[in-house]
Amino acid sequence: MINLISDTVTKPTPGMLQAMINAEVGDDVFGEDPSVNALEAKMAAMFGKEAALFCPSGTMTNQIAIKVHTQPLDEMICDEYSHVYQYETAGYAYNAGVGVNLIKGQNGKITAEQIAAVIKPVHDWLPISKLVVLENTCNKGGGSFYTLAEIQPISALCKERGLALHLDGARLFNALVETRESTLEVGKAFDTISICLSKGLGAPVGSCLIGPKAFIRQARRVRKVMGGGMRQSGFLAAACIYALEHQVQRLKTDNDHAKILGKILENLPYVENVRPVQTNIVIFDVKAPYTAETYLTKLAEKGINASPFGLQTVRFVTHLDVSPAMIEQTTAVLKSL
Ligand SMILES: *Cc1c(COP(=O)(O)O)cnc(C)c1O
Repeated sequence: MINLISDTVTKPTPGMLQAMINAEVGDDVFGEDPSVNALEAKMAAMFGKEAALFCPSGTMTNQIAIKVHTQPLDEMICDEYSHVYQYETAGYAYNAGVGVNLIKGQNGKITAEQIAAVIKPVHDWLPISKLVVLENTCNKGGGSFYTLAEIQPISALCKERGLALHLDGARLFNALVETRESTLEVGKAFDTISICLSKGLGAPVGSCLIGPKAFIRQARRVRKVMGGGMRQSGFLAAACIYALEHQVQRLKTDNDHAKILGKILENLPYVENVRPVQTNIVIFDVKAPYTAETYLTKLAEKGINASPFGLQTVRFVTHLDVSPAMIEQTTAVLKSL
């Protein structure tokens, strides 16, 4: 089967498995796992921040960030497509007790002007606008990405108005291999950053939350109460270090593969509304009589798995375990339907 369901489906490469087997480990709840400590130090340095925290998932790193940046009765501002709003089980309300102030952006991206227009004045009867969350790349936005030039005015606005700025950078490196911008510059623009190692980077498990020392100290307490304090998690951290050292630049291949699929889809009679393909995600609509469900069943019969993203909408995600030959095979199947 060719698995285009998500870039989370990747399996560790032989080199990564070897790195995991060789990992030096300890008990990370006591702060004594050398591999976790090395990963956290590496991540913090990469973004020019003081500290980082290794967590089991990107949902947890985002939820911890929202919790630590806010107090109950505050609100976070984000695009309506945001993962923190759409796909984290309303955790902002559950874990942090905050509301959400949604912006209708463009392919998941919002601007400083749009944010400035929705920051609430301070009254007893209004939540306090406390946090802005950007997502880069934007999953539901079809893998769209922000450039630093687009982020910097948002960063300046947040500083001026006293709002925290968090980056859900689950797939940040898929954007950076396109823009060639530096992680240090990204680090300067945000207060905190969440990075998934378990997506296109190919690690089996894990995300990092990156930020100032005092913030991460509190984040560590919240991780514990969420049940995310792990013991010999250095086996996982070693996979993440391996991913950062060997599997970042190859994300460009995934982006290029997605662009090939996007081009093919644009010319197929049963397809419409292919969203601009910018990184490793392809979102498109199938025309009636197809529905996403019937179309995906047909694809599965031909050995390709993908996800529904609406009644007529389908998503493909390319990744480490999708080879050039599989892209060719997929192309042939798409044309045959
Ligand atoms: C995958 C993802 C996350 C985190 O997901 P987990 O499955 O909890 O690791 C967060 N944000 C975005 C944009 C994502 O795509």
